[in-house]
Amino acid sequence: MNQPEPPADRRAAEREPTLSVLLVEADQLAAERLFEVLGAAPAQRFEITHVQRIEEGLQKLHAARFDVLLLDLAIEESVGLESLHRARVAADTLPIVMLTYQGDADLALRATRAGAHDVLIKGESTPALIARSLVHAVERYRMMAELREAKQRHWFLANHDPLTALKNRTALLESARTALARAQRHGEQLAVFFLDLDGFKPVNDNLGHATGDELLIDVAKRLQRIRPKRDVVARFGGDEFVVVAMGVTDREAAIRLAEALRDEIERPYHVGGAECFISASVGVALFPEDGTDADELIRRADTAMYAAKDSGRNAVRSFENAMDEETHERFELVNGLREAIRAGDLVLEFQPQIDVVQERIVGAETLVRWQHVTRGLVAPNEFIGLAEDTGMMVGLGEWILRSACIIASGWTSLPDIRVAVNISGRQLEQRDFPSRVRGILDESGLAPGRLELELTESVAAQDSAMRALAELHEAGIRVAIDDFGTGYSSLALLKQLPADLLKIDQSFVHDAVSRNSGAVILDAIVRMARGLDLEVVAEGVETLEEMDLLLGLGCHQLQGYLLGKPTPKSDFESAVTAPDATWRLPIERPEAWSPLSREELLAKPSEPEILGDDALPVLK
Ligand code: C2E
Ligand code: MG
Ligand code: MG
Repeated sequence: MNQPEPPADRRAAEREPTLSVLLVEADQLAAERLFEVLGAAPAQRFEITHVQRIEEGLQKLHAARFDVLLLDLAIEESVGLESLHRARVAADTLPIVMLTYQGDADLALRATRAGAHDVLIKGESTPALIARSLVHAVERYRMMAELREAKQRHWFLANHDPLTALKNRTALLESARTALARAQRHGEQLAVFFLDLDGFKPVNDNLGHATGDELLIDVAKRLQRIRPKRDVVARFGGDEFVVVAMGVTDREAAIRLAEALRDEIERPYHVGGAECFISASVGVALFPEDGTDADELIRRADTAMYAAKDSGRNAVRSFENAMDEETHERFELVNGLREAIRAGDLVLEFQPQIDVVQERIVGAETLVRWQHVTRGLVAPNEFIGLAEDTGMMVGLGEWILRSACIIASGWTSLPDIRVAVNISGRQLEQRDFPSRVRGILDESGLAPGRLELELTESVAAQDSAMRALAELHEAGIRVAIDDFGTGYSSLALLKQLPADLLKIDQSFVHDAVSRNSGAVILDAIVRMARGLDLEVVAEGVETLEEMDLLLGLGCHQLQGYLLGKPTPKSDFESAVTAPDATWRLPIERPEAWSPLSREELLAKPSEPEILGDDALPVLK
């Protein structure tokens, strides 16, 4: 059965909330008429508070909240709109509807300009008109407030970083300019600090982006807490922050401030339910000594920050003029490298890895060089880091891998040797790295077992890298730990890594002949590798003495200038297959040089000798 319809006025009352009206009306009779009129309004309920004088009205405005003010304008004050002005000042966010006896267009206009939302003529306004005017005034006001809020929100978003609510780059520049102008006027110094978190990416990768975000928010809060309100604190980019500090007395004071910022960031964080640590590299630039405009100062603080990073992170460096030259050179180098990649000016060389006991070449390491127009062959150490920092490494690395696989698949006279390719951490950051490698193998026709990926311990130890390596290893691709001994040298870690081979860093090889302790360390590394069932290659073997020592320790896969320098692909195959190949010669040495004969070495047992589980100290 249908419910009976409620009466029309009850329906309206249920629909519309009551509007609270403050009525300022000197004439008691007129006020009563209005009560009647509004009480009978068909579509809206009003709750009316009536006062006769504007003073009382102002008191009520202070004491309570109203939706709208209905203000009678006495004839005598219609020129000055006195009470309207006073009401506007007392309640600047309240919509006001005026009542007047005069149907004067000029007065209506002036009242509107002075802040009235509507002007009603007494005697001419029907109850419905008055009610509608009040409702519209409230509604219009609400829309305007929303608009104002939207504008404020828009302004906030345009000037702030949504994650940390710190100023963004645009607002930083504007605030820094204002601060500089003030410092100039008062003859004060000002310091700009550029902070970049060290190792933020691994936090993001290993603990997840939500935790990374939490950490950034915490860093922002700490920076704000430690600096006075008048300083500017901004998020410049991903993990970069800029602080502009006023009234800094001299460079020493600025450096002390930078150290305080760094120390604050270094305190432990409790994010994502775990305790975590991060440090920052801080660059400092001073106004007016290091620059007079905001862009320049920020750029120079950034340059100093790079110098801090280079000096080993968690460091503070103050800007020096020489740094600008370095930055310029770096800029030239980055542009040059980009162009070189495009123009195909990067070339590959191959360096043999020899099993000197079996007198057999077992592998070749691929080493990239830059064929520079004026500088000749540029070594990879000069540009790999640059490529990594500027996003070029992934493309470059893939080109190297593809080229190496294609070239190696064409080594018909060396069908069994493996080709080693150095892999950058940036490449392993790609989620689809394993499938890309498999794609390259398919394309080149190289058997998976002939490809060996060389990674440093620190790269291989990342969680995501470990997963990718396990997948690649599963597919039969070999994994080598490069420069072993210069990173964590953690036995626990080594046991987890899906590795086949360990490459001993050349510094240990050189140290072994120059220092007694060096030989002990080398011995320990070789034993450890054998204990973990890993093959070993010693890098950078330059002398017969080094080779003998390594052979004596049971390491017979060697790589180094003594056995063959890196050579372009055109020479590599003929060089290593030639009967007088360099690596065949040193073995023809006087027998007395060798602590063990070749036969003895071949017979040397290689049972695993498991060492303790503790991390070795950093072996450097
Ligand atoms: P690495 O992978 O440890 O490579 C061995 C380095 O030792 C090579 O330097 C090689 O030329 C050098 N070397 C070999 N034998 C001797 C020797 O007897 N004495 C001395 N003093 N040095 C020797 P290179 O070619 O300058 O490469 C340096 C590093 O650059 C490499 O170290 C590797 O980390 C990186 N690199 C080279 N090519 C690539 C590449 O294609 N991709 C990536 N990601 N990194 C590469
Ligand atoms: Mg290598
Ligand atoms: Mg190496």
